[in-house]
Order: sequence, then C-alpha cells, then structure tokens
Amino acid sequence: MRVDQSLIQKLAESFEVPFTDILLIALNVCGVNSDLPHQRIRFKFKPFSYHLPFYFGIPNNIAISPFRIVGDSLILDGEKMGDIFAAEDDTCDAVYLRKNNHELCFNSHSRSLCRGCKFCFGLQTPKDRETIKAKSDVDLFFENLERRYGKDFFANLSEIALVTGCFNSADRLISHLRDIYECATRRRFDGEMYYLGTEIVTREQLAAVCHMRFRYTFALETLSRRTEILRLSKANYSIGGIMKIMECANELGVITAYSYIVGLEKFCGLRKEFLAINQLLTGFPVFNIFQPHTTDAHFLRCKGADDITFYLEARRFFEEIIDNDSIVPRRWQNYRSLWYTTYKGKDLQDETI
Ligand code: SF4
Repeated sequence: MRVDQSLIQKLAESFEVPFTDILLIALNVCGVNSDLPHQRIRFKFKPFSYHLPFYFGIPNNIAISPFRIVGDSLILDGEKMGDIFAAEDDTCDAVYLRKNNHELCFNSHSRSLCRGCKFCFGLQTPKDRETIKAKSDVDLFFENLERRYGKDFFANLSEIALVTGCFNSADRLISHLRDIYECATRRRFDGEMYYLGTEIVTREQLAAVCHMRFRYTFALETLSRRTEILRLSKANYSIGGIMKIMECANELGVITAYSYIVGLEKFCGLRKEFLAINQLLTGFPVFNIFQPHTTDAHFLRCKGADDITFYLEARRFFEEIIDNDSIVPRRWQNYRSLWYTTYKGKDLQDETI
C-alpha cells in the first residue's frame, strides 16, 4: 500500500480531515515493521502532529507496510513521525486497564478457544487461555487487583468490559456477568457493565442484565458477507433480527450499539440498512479498521480497501448517516477507529487512553 507524507497531506486537504487522523488510520490499515519478532504488537504512539499519545495493537512485520519502528521512533517515508513507547508482544491478555485505570477490560473467557470468524486473530493468542470462570475465581482475581491498585480501585472504575470468545450458552454468559457485577459492586463499583458480543438476544436475557447499567454492543461486523465470514452462531442473525434485539435493549434502558469491521465490504450500497439500524443507536458504534494478520486474511479485504481513501470515505459516510449528535467516538474506547482527534469537524474530547 502506498502511503507517504505528501499523500497524507493531500488527503487531509481534500477530505478536510486532520493529518493526524489520516496518519493513524494508515498505521492501523498497514500494520508496521519492527525488530520485534511478534506477529502482533501493542504500543503507545505520540505523533509530532498532536499533543497526546494514542494506543495501538497492530500486525507486526507486514512486508508491504511503509511504517517502521526504529528504536523509539515511528518512521514513514524516511522521516520520524513521532515517539513510540513500550512496544511489546500483544498477547490479547485476558485482563487489562484503559482510561488511566478507570476501565477494566475483563476478557475472562478465552478468545483463542473460540472458532469460526475468518477475520479473528484469537486463534494465535494462546496466552488468553487462563480463563476465569467460577465466581470464586472472579472474586480472587478482583482481590488481587485491589491489592495491586488500592482499595478504591473498583470505586474509581467507570466501566467493566467483557469482550470475549463465545460462551455458547446465554445462561452461562449471564451468570458470569452477574458474578462479575456482584464481586465488583461488593467492592463499591458503581459504573457501567459493558458487553460486546452476540449472545444476549431475548427479552428475558436482556431483562436479566439491564439492572446492571448495561451497555451492549452487538457484534454485527458485516452486513453483506455474514454467512461467508462469521461463525454460524453469529451469521444466523439477520439484520432484522439484530434490530429487534437492539429495539428490545433500548426499551429496557440498555445503552445499545453495534460493532462493524471497516474493510470487508463496500458500505455505500448498504446505506438503507445502516440508516435503519442507526435509528436504534444509543451508544456510538465500534468501527474497527480491518487488520489482516495472515496472508489468507489479506484476501478478506474487499476491493478498494487496500487504499486509504476507502477509510476516509467510510469516515465521511458514517458521519453523514449517524444522525444522533449525542453520541460521539471516545478515544479510549476504540484503538483502531476511523476517528482520533475530530468527528464531524469538531474536536474530540481529550480523554486519557
Ligand atoms: S466470536 Fe468470532 S471474532 Fe469473537 S472470538 Fe469467536 S471467532 Fe473470534
């Protein structure tokens, strides 16, 4: 993929998008080369073009990427674009913190043991197999977190997120969510419970979690290639079916959104479907830039998606068809987003990642 500074500058002018946003989109699309041997790496990057750092988890040693990490520098086109901090193997750990320790990602159910979605990197991350299943395990884990981060750790959390592999049973998932919630509220947690997945689908199931201040992102991922790309249990839900789930979630006061992978399909012909589903949004969708880690996965990219303009057109398209100004992208919520410093021409809030 051809990306250099003059192209970014040119695109910044024609799309009226900040240079930084295009640089960071390109980094997520292209991946990076480095001396680290890992297939996927994570790091903080503070570009010269912006006053704050951003967090990344991206494919490493992608021969065709124009980005290179040399020491603590990110190099594009022979020039340093900013500083890299703490580059390391991205093991997709079961548990990590975001938002300056105010958000706990508790991915307690292994993704590497889940199968079926063709784009999923989970297969190569065996480190997340230390599953934390029983309530006593959750309790012990939380006790250790308190020991490490202090007695007020849970009181200071604004969110606990569960983004995991499939449980293959809504009952088991709900019971696990309840265990997490109970163990956390006992420690004065008063924030939102967040779940990204597809396994809560009936009114009864939603009713069983809505008392928790629940935020639900339905893993939609693709509209037109569902049976081709998604595992069967996810592909089985039609767009109409997903809208019914979102409608029901809204009625029960659940904050509702969807996740979507940008780069798998042409989105322009799907305007009608997006407009319909966007009416049901009460939270901002998770638009993830597609990141292929293997040669096979590269072939999942749709025609045109190996060009940066595809992502800038997607950004413009979704800005135009999300007709709800009370929801905006949050810097800490998505590390491979289409938005980093502005949304609909306005500055995004400077939140810690
Ligand atoms: S549901 Fe799909 S994307 Fe999620 S962990 Fe399982 S295989 Fe991966």
